[in-house]
Amino acid sequence: MRNDAPPARPIVTISDLVIEFRTRRQRVRALDGASLSVAEGEKVGLVGESGSGKSTLALSLARLLPTNAEHVSGDLTVAGKSIFAMDTASLRAVRRRTLSYVFQDPIGTLDPTMRVGRQISSVLNGVSQRSAVASSLLEVGLTDHKRIARSYPHELSGGMAQRVSIAVALAAKPQVVIADEPTASLDASIRAQILDLLVSLCAGHGTALVLLSHDLRAIAHYCERVAVMYGGRVVEDGPTANVFSEPFHPYSRALMKAAPGQERLGGRIEPIPGVPPILGGREERCTFAPRCRFALESCHSERPGEQRTAGRRVICHRVEGGLPPLPR
Ligand code: ATP
Ligand code: MG
Repeated sequence: MRNDAPPARPIVTISDLVIEFRTRRQRVRALDGASLSVAEGEKVGLVGESGSGKSTLALSLARLLPTNAEHVSGDLTVAGKSIFAMDTASLRAVRRRTLSYVFQDPIGTLDPTMRVGRQISSVLNGVSQRSAVASSLLEVGLTDHKRIARSYPHELSGGMAQRVSIAVALAAKPQVVIADEPTASLDASIRAQILDLLVSLCAGHGTALVLLSHDLRAIAHYCERVAVMYGGRVVEDGPTANVFSEPFHPYSRALMKAAPGQERLGGRIEPIPGVPPILGGREERCTFAPRCRFALESCHSERPGEQRTAGRRVICHRVEGGLPPLPR
């Protein structure tokens, strides 16, 4: 069958982005040349151990980084416009209309002083009719919409508050939603419902979704593409099914072997030895080399470049050298 669909255009393009945090004691390079692109309507999972730079990458998208963050180099465009070159008015427009966020703690994210209905209508660009608020709340499964619209965030359960955050995030019909651990603070029994809701609403609106999570099973289930971060770089990125069944990067392989659920698939959980790096500047080696079972000499002394192979982007000297696939 011929596929006549035009290729999806990128809505987000991140190229070699370097972000550092200044603290009184040190400089932390949270992103050390991160690259990623997200196509319109695409669902991309972002995974990696704590400190790998996922949230820094996510916050960079709307320049929402804390004040001690510095954009050192690299470019980031959203809907074709460079975020770091933008004036305040254009940035505000991007934040209102083009992309939005769903964070881990919904009650902390919503404005505690404003009723839910007003928070939704304030995103609707002046459209303050009750019917628009009602349909937003109904869309996220809150059938008791009149009561919810009159409530303050602290009067809601965690699950209801996260449904409201999703309604707020989608109200302006953005082109991208970034969800940073959107279910981590919720009761395990409702996590799947909330993720199902978020993913299906994004799909229904044609909105791209960038989902940051430590839950690899959820990423495998919901996302068509996965990007694996380590040491402030996206070290592997490709179709989820391929990356999960045959990871090219030793770190991707190690991350999957360390994930709960392995034991049910006939494997066993293998923790990754050592600890993730905290970078003080540009690294002229592979930052995973000290923990890597497959490291070559060059991994300790040369910064690996990007390889494109079989629909994947990988940053690894082994792949660069055309070495055989990693053992399972
Ligand atoms: P997690 O899975 O724990 O959420 P993450 O992948 O989101 O981790 P980031 O929060 O992006 O990681 O952190 C990347 C690096 O930047 C870490 O070394 C972190 O300590 C550092 N960092 C993050 N925010 C700040 C800050 N405001 N000031 C100083 N360093 C920071
Ligand atoms: Mg984070």
